[in-house]
Amino acid sequence: MNFPNLGGQNQWYPFMDRPLPEQVDGVLQNPAVVPLHNVDPLPPSARYVVVGAGIHGMSTAYHLAMALEKSGKGKGSDVVLIDKQGPGAGATGLACGCVRNLYMTGPLHSILRASVEVWESDPVNFGFQQVGYVSIGEENQTQDYIALNQSQIDSGYPSDLYMGDDAHRFLTSLWPDFKTDKCDVVLHEHRSGYAGTHMVMWGLDQKCQQWGVQRVYGVEVTGYELSSGSGGGVGGGSVTAVETSAGTISCEQVVVGAGAWTPRHWEWLGGPNTLDIVYPDGHVAVDHAMWTYWRLLEGEVWMPPGVDYRTADGKDAPVLHVELMNTPVYGDDGEMIQDHVYTYTRYAAERVGAPGLQGGTIPIPIGDSAQVEPYGHLSDLYQADDWFPEYYCKTLGMLFKRFENLEPYFKQRRNGGIGAFTPDNVPIFDHVADNAFVIADSNHGFKMIGVGKLTADMLVGGTKPWELEPFTFGRFAAGTTFGDRNSNCPWV
Ligand SMILES: Cc1cc2nc3c(=O)[nH]c(=O)nc-3n(C[C@H](O)[C@H](O)[C@H](O)COP(=O)(O)OP(=O)(O)OC[C@H]3O[C@@H](n4cnc5c(N)ncnc54)[C@H](O)[C@@H]3O)c2cc1C
Repeated sequence: MNFPNLGGQNQWYPFMDRPLPEQVDGVLQNPAVVPLHNVDPLPPSARYVVVGAGIHGMSTAYHLAMALEKSGKGKGSDVVLIDKQGPGAGATGLACGCVRNLYMTGPLHSILRASVEVWESDPVNFGFQQVGYVSIGEENQTQDYIALNQSQIDSGYPSDLYMGDDAHRFLTSLWPDFKTDKCDVVLHEHRSGYAGTHMVMWGLDQKCQQWGVQRVYGVEVTGYELSSGSGGGVGGGSVTAVETSAGTISCEQVVVGAGAWTPRHWEWLGGPNTLDIVYPDGHVAVDHAMWTYWRLLEGEVWMPPGVDYRTADGKDAPVLHVELMNTPVYGDDGEMIQDHVYTYTRYAAERVGAPGLQGGTIPIPIGDSAQVEPYGHLSDLYQADDWFPEYYCKTLGMLFKRFENLEPYFKQRRNGGIGAFTPDNVPIFDHVADNAFVIADSNHGFKMIGVGKLTADMLVGGTKPWELEPFTFGRFAAGTTFGDRNSNCPWV
């Protein structure tokens, strides 16, 4: 079978001439990114069912199994992890892998502190490169940077702030060829970096095995059996069993980490499709869609001969994030491509297949419905736009002398992926049924590996960790809706 290669890309799914994955009902299925070994059959019952083997489901299953064993409150095999494909078949397997704490939403700083503790717990098997994260803004973001620097420090996540000439000196000390003229404010996060997305899936899958998790891959959840509940969840019911393509499994607790498929699970669990949103200033958005799908724009570039992405002292460079809201980007033909710079970049040899960079720009909203299958690189609908390669290369050339004229080195291959965003683009971590906890990260949570640990702490310890509290669904009615941000991007 031939897959249409509409863009004439020289590398499209997903690496060179790798065979096409299986189909279900005529639709190609995005496969797991690690080999599947010792997969378990679906048992008839379990104390805990975790749905989705992405970053959140796998982190939850691993931490839950470990906490049950260590506390003596249960066994690792009390946890059943179900995925219709296997580890990394959703956004986690495609993500750029950037781990940062650059958020204007203050409560996320503690989520990231908890997450980086997990990344640091086994950097080798999680593929975590703690190279730091350097973000740059223009003068109009100075106050935001001052606030987030202080909030990061308060939450145990040290960062340094530089302004004006200090910012310029800092940047050229890292990269002597950096063009600093538009760079008014710079934040340097020390505990951040990037992670190999396939490596962390492999590492978490190994850890799930080691702690006895029953890993059920190739089984699709088709619904949830609900009884009337105590009203402790968003939807009001209580899950008695999970229905799957391999039969029904009764259970006491469910955790869902379903990425772009979250809206379907949310609805099955009784969550609403629309809601009224109260903002802190009192205004109300009535009947707002619960979920909005966005598509991501990312790409990869090879290093030109003799060029590297290292610091002046030869180290793997920090991840770079630049938003210049008042600086347009022009193409070779003199036409403006976008009226702003928004670019992020990390060294990505393990993804590019050779020394190279991976990065992207601001995602684009699709609407309140999207074709989720086939997912990721398999989708004809949601790949980066034609303008993206030139834009991405130009932004790097605007910033580094060494990256001028990078366009011929752009790697033409599919890089798409979509996500389901919440109404304020900030995660929801909450019970939808009484006993069904949903981790809906609003498609920026690869970095949030610690949410699975906090969820496990809650399930085993019986108390919800304070870090999770601000991210309840109730914020939309209570008027503590997030979304106050000075950025063109929804992810801050
Ligand atoms: C191109 C791209 C780049 C990104 N870059 C970054 C980044 O640099 N940093 C960052 O922090 N975030 C990034 N993100 C966002 C991040 O990847 C996601 O937020 C995160 O990976 C979501 O993890 P998850 O576990 O919730 O879902 P997923 O990784 O999507 O996993 C969900 C799993 O659930 C399974 N599933 C769904 N429905 C069912 C069902 N009915 N039955 C059984 N299994 C089911 C799927 O097969 C899938 O494996 C990026 C996203 C994309 C698309």
